[in-house]
Amino acid sequence: MANKWVYMFSEGNMTMRNLLGGKGANLAEMTSIGLPVPQGFTITTEACTQYYEDGRKINDEIMAQAMEGVKKMEEINGKKFGDLQNPLLVSVRSGARASMPGMMDTILNLGLNDDVVAAMIKGNPDPAFERFVYDSYRRFIQMFSDVVMEVGKKYFEQLIDAMKEKKGVKFDVDLTAADLKELAEQFKAEYKNQLGKDFPSDPVEQLKLAIEAVFRSWDNPRANVYRRDNDIPYSWGTAVNVMPMVFGNLNNESGTGVAFTRDPATGENKLMGEFLINAQGEDVVAGVRTPMPIAQMEKEFPEAYAEFIKVCETLENHYHDMQDMEFTVENKKLYMLQCRNGKRTAPAALKIACDLVDEGHKTPEEAVAMIDPRNLDTLLHPQFDAAALKAATPIGKGLGASPGAACGKVVFTADDAVEWAARGEKVVLVRLETSPEDITGMKAAQGILTVRGGMTSHAAVVARGMGECCVSGCGDINMDEENKKFTLAGKEFHEGDFISIDGTTGNIYDGQIATVDAQIAGEFGRIMAWADEFRKLKVRTNADTPADAKKARELGAEGIGLCRTEHMFFEEDRIAAFREMICSDTVEEREAALEKILPYQQNDFKALYEALEGCPVTIRFLDPPLHEFVPTTEDEIKKLAEAKNKSVDEIKAIINSLHEFNPMMGHRGCRLAVTYPEIAKMQTKAVIRAALEVQKAHADWNVKPEIMIPLVCEVKELKYVKKVVVETADAEIAAAGAKLEYEVGTMIEIPRAALTADEIAKEADFFCFGTNDLTQMTFGFSRDDAGKFLNAYYDTKIFENDPFAKLDQTGVGKLMEMSLKLGKPVNPSLHVGICGEHGGDPSSVEFCHKIGLDYVSCSPFRVPVARLAAAQAAI
Ligand code: PEP
Ligand code: MG
Repeated sequence: MANKWVYMFSEGNMTMRNLLGGKGANLAEMTSIGLPVPQGFTITTEACTQYYEDGRKINDEIMAQAMEGVKKMEEINGKKFGDLQNPLLVSVRSGARASMPGMMDTILNLGLNDDVVAAMIKGNPDPAFERFVYDSYRRFIQMFSDVVMEVGKKYFEQLIDAMKEKKGVKFDVDLTAADLKELAEQFKAEYKNQLGKDFPSDPVEQLKLAIEAVFRSWDNPRANVYRRDNDIPYSWGTAVNVMPMVFGNLNNESGTGVAFTRDPATGENKLMGEFLINAQGEDVVAGVRTPMPIAQMEKEFPEAYAEFIKVCETLENHYHDMQDMEFTVENKKLYMLQCRNGKRTAPAALKIACDLVDEGHKTPEEAVAMIDPRNLDTLLHPQFDAAALKAATPIGKGLGASPGAACGKVVFTADDAVEWAARGEKVVLVRLETSPEDITGMKAAQGILTVRGGMTSHAAVVARGMGECCVSGCGDINMDEENKKFTLAGKEFHEGDFISIDGTTGNIYDGQIATVDAQIAGEFGRIMAWADEFRKLKVRTNADTPADAKKARELGAEGIGLCRTEHMFFEEDRIAAFREMICSDTVEEREAALEKILPYQQNDFKALYEALEGCPVTIRFLDPPLHEFVPTTEDEIKKLAEAKNKSVDEIKAIINSLHEFNPMMGHRGCRLAVTYPEIAKMQTKAVIRAALEVQKAHADWNVKPEIMIPLVCEVKELKYVKKVVVETADAEIAAAGAKLEYEVGTMIEIPRAALTADEIAKEADFFCFGTNDLTQMTFGFSRDDAGKFLNAYYDTKIFENDPFAKLDQTGVGKLMEMSLKLGKPVNPSLHVGICGEHGGDPSSVEFCHKIGLDYVSCSPFRVPVARLAAAQAAI
């Protein structure tokens, strides 16, 4: 049987999201529960995949089925595509499995041409109708040119601006039918001017080109960035929805709106949305006109409003989640154009999830499963200090479109935001309005401030998705983007001036306002407590200082999974002693230098044990190559030469001898302990002495040091270093006349260690996957240099993600699974964790749960992310 590429809305339902995309599945579902949806059809995501397989072509079978869909749509709606009596106009809209707001393309009013326009006007002599037809026509030409043929929007906007200036009007709605007619002609001329051919008049050709454009938009740069950020596979493809137009711009009895059943910024259970009379959907979303609050719709269109409120209730009760809806009123009648689980800020997500549990819509498990762990990050970002905020006077106010505090230097373009951020500046991107091309700049900025646009404008929606602070629609700003300046409250702001914005209240402040750390409390605390009940994986932290450890404990860490001891060597007096150690000629000399470091290390470890209050602490012995510690300035070299009683040239010769071509694969990790066992001896003494001290002071704490040997590739290496550790530790414990249990384990971060894990497990009390190195060594990509070429890998779709950020389950993951399978039978008490960057990445955490790790360890601010991801993996 031939493939079925096309489904009428009446043929689908919400479980068919993979095939029909989110929008298509929900349009079908709304149809099936009797909501007023203009009846059209969906071309499947599989057709999109096929389009790419066929070399970016829509094959005849897909197009034939689409035309059958058009025929059925014509029958249902009693109108005909391209007909001069009763023409059918359609919208063509993208709709992937996961919603990607604003990332892909939409074309409205398709099916218009000069003849259809003339026939429509002839059939209805009302001058207002004539205006509507020309308005629709010029919109169509503009959108089709921009989206389908990639002629920049700006050419058309310039023509509109010129027309408005000529006519002395401020808004598009003030242009007359004649003005719009003239504009449509100008647009067609511009099209020909840009592309060297006439605007296509055949509706079927228009449709085919539009469907192709939507498929093509799956691969546009902003969609690719969005997918990478949101873990959406490229292979999914987008569906295309073809739907009869209903016209919000028909007359003043018509309008269009976007609404959320609950406030997407705060989560408050109250309808939130915006409405524009005599307008089409794009006007609301694009932020071209600032719309009215949805409540005002009740006054303007009481019947449609009452029906809409009922629809909202129906949808929430049906989907058991906050809904984001697009609708149109045509001649006072309501039509639903879209519904989906609405994007929301992190605080709103937590409040909505808790409220849904309290209202009986969801179980705690379902509530935990609803929260995107990646969004938690934003809750842990600093907020404005309440006292500093109170003392400050706002100089302006926009809409609090996406909460948070942002303080930074003003920049005016997305490119500048990226460039300034790359050199370490904190910036606030200030724009007239944002468009999807600005996404990288929005990401790079601390916050976004726009002059135009409402709560559902592009800037607001995208900022909320990214968890970034955004204040939108501050109409008091007098913007001069070209000259990179604006005025607000009588002050002229230039590029580089400081500004602070509050995404909760919408307030704008001149200069910098102090910020404070966030806390886990309220709904955040409730969700995290549920998550802790459900998860099986323990969550530890990577921390090298007591301050980091304390922060991680506050955020729920249950131990330290990785303390990188080398980070404790860098302070000035320590590094001097360490350099003396490196430049020693004999073991005795080296030991004397290490003796100076020992008390520092001992105190460091003691402070860590105290901060952890008896929770496990894994201390990893020195890992990086020695050359990282050598002096670089003439002054430092001279100082070292004096301390070592050597000449400057002798010291320089030692430094040169430490040079390595591939330091990441050089003299580092346990290789250092093999060549200089006295380093491991000193570190063991420091660990054991610290533990003994803390054990004495806190008899009720379970102080059991875990000593971790890095970069092992051969069991004999581990055996050799372990012998040094055990002899030293046992001697220390005996000398203290105390009892202390301790463990010696290893990192698995070289493929050979994974391959021989059964041998290594005989000598190790625990394994901890160092997936940073394991990824580096498995791929053969230098972790320091891969950034230089990975972009080309994304562009060519060889990779969809950075393997250093998201665990490569196929390759590196296989090595991890193999290590467990080989190691556990040999040593059943072996405990296993992960401490590479992947320990805080949700999809990697899920994998760690699946293969049966005991814990993940990540940086302090990712601990809540890992707790939630671990719970979701277990649910
Ligand atoms: C690792 O390699 O994953 C690891 C945690 O160690 P480091 O990053 O210090 O090399
Ligand atoms: Mg490592």
